[in-house]
Parts: sequence; structure tokens; C-alpha cells
Amino acid sequence: MYEGRAPVEAGLIFGHENMGVIEAVGSAVRNVKVGDRVVLPFNIGCGFCFNCTRGFSNACLTVNPQGHGGGYGYSGMGPHPGGQAELVRVPYADYNALALPGTPGDEFEDDFILLADVFPTGYHATEQAHVKPGDTVAIFGAGPVGLMAALSCKSVQDLQKGAGEKMPGVMCTIDAIGYEAKKHDTGDRKNEGQQDPEQLLADLVRLTNPTGHISLIGVYFPEDPGAKGDAKKGRFLLDLGDAWNKGITIEMGQAPVKQYNVYLRDLIIAGVAKPSTIVSHRFPLDGAVDAYKNFDARNDGYTKVLLKPQQAA
Ligand SMILES: [Zn+2]
Repeated sequence: MYEGRAPVEAGLIFGHENMGVIEAVGSAVRNVKVGDRVVLPFNIGCGFCFNCTRGFSNACLTVNPQGHGGGYGYSGMGPHPGGQAELVRVPYADYNALALPGTPGDEFEDDFILLADVFPTGYHATEQAHVKPGDTVAIFGAGPVGLMAALSCKSVQDLQKGAGEKMPGVMCTIDAIGYEAKKHDTGDRKNEGQQDPEQLLADLVRLTNPTGHISLIGVYFPEDPGAKGDAKKGRFLLDLGDAWNKGITIEMGQAPVKQYNVYLRDLIIAGVAKPSTIVSHRFPLDGAVDAYKNFDARNDGYTKVLLKPQQAA
């Protein structure tokens, strides 16, 4: 969205990873009250539609007049302003707000905020890839989601009680890059560094063992005004014949955050998971302009940036 690679209207307030303390509640809200500390799944659900009742709040049928699935401040996800602001409005707060213990600024502050998206999303990547104890996993992409997928795999590894004979190679591959994947060296150096997700998709199919699993957690937009050719419409070539021949499963899409966030919150509280190790910078709101520039340029050290409206400049 920042690079104009997804259709958004000027003036949209960004910010789909939100956490804070409740300032006011609407007349229909029952389960949360003023003063509660909460974190919000980036996907907004109603809690009562066909998809939400089956646990797929990522495809809610109520909150997005443009189609399925809603979110805060995000292209194609409905009219919900984002949370990079002093206040954010939370639809269906009883369903969406996850209660947190403690007080703002405590030892879990920067872990809890990652429950809004990247920790559950990284975990979901491993679920889509059917990662089990003893499996070999390859993760493409070392941004926040790729790193969280690695953390989720390690949690699985710790539970391993010893593996049987394994097929050499990789059973589970995770694409944590998406449409922004860049071409790597194939002997044709003049095109190296250009955007080429089709090369990544080919790598995933080639690398994955027969009967293995591919998880596409990196984003692919249905429309990409900044792309060339078929990619403008979200169309990419896939080595379907090889994938079919190997009997590989391919799963993809947004994480249904509500399926995981209670469990992952409690792993944080128990000291089993410390996702905030990926947080590199913390700024007040007026640090956002420079933070976006540096993150977008992949400048050294900009892994995950938190904006804290209450932090002094
Ligand atoms: Zn719903």
C-alpha cells in the first residue's frame, strides 16, 4: 500500500496491528469495559456469520461491504480506519478484543502487540505447511512473518521426542515473501534483483519433497496497479504439473488470528515464547514517516517497528 502496489484511497489511516487500553464502549458491548487492556486481531470478525462461527474470522461475511474479510486500514478490507492514531474504533468489540493481563509498559508489552498479526500469522504459516515434530522446514523470507514462522517451528521442535527415519530434503516449505520476491542469480545476472515471484513459486515446488506441503503466507494481491503484465491481475505461473506429480499440497491466505491468539498469548505469559526479539525500533507517532522510509528501504536493522502514541518524542 505504501508503494502504491495495492488500490487504496489517499487519506487512508494505516495500522492493522493494534493494542491499547479501552477509552469508551458502545451501548451493545458487554464483555469488555473501560480500562481493559486489549490486543485486536488484524482481521475484524462479527462472530456470528457462517465463516466466523466456523473459526474463519479472516473471511468474515459481515464487516466488509466489498466482499469477504475485513481489517483495519487495509486495501480491500472494508471501511475501517487503522490504528496508527491516538484512538481506533473497534467493531464487534466483544468478539474481537483479546483481554491481556498486566499494565501498559510492562515486560510483555512488545510481545503482546505481536499477537495482532505477525505471531499468529507466522504460526498459521506452519499450520498451513502441516509442520510436525521431526519435519524439515524451509522458510523463504526473513521479515517479521518469516522469523515468527521460524519461532513457531522451534516451539514444535522443542516438543519433539525423537524422529523416525526421514526422507532427505524438505517436507514443508513456507513462502513468507509473497509477490515482492526478487529474482536471484540463475546465470542471467542482468535481471537479478527484479521482482519475480514466479521464480520463488518454482523454487518452492522444486524444493518440496514428494507428499510434502507448501504454505503461501506472503501476500499476493488480486490487483497490483504497480505490476507489469498478468501480475496486475494477481496472475502468476506455477509449476502445477510438477506439484501434482509430487502430490504436494498448497495452502495459502491470511491467518484466522482468533484461532491462535489465546494460545499464543498464554505461551508468552508462560515464558515459552518471546516474539518481541524481532522488534528493532520504537517511535512516537510522529516518527512514522521516517520509520516507513527506512523499513521500506530495508535499511539495516529495521525488522519490526512499533509506534507508541503515548511515547514522548
Ligand atoms: Zn463474521
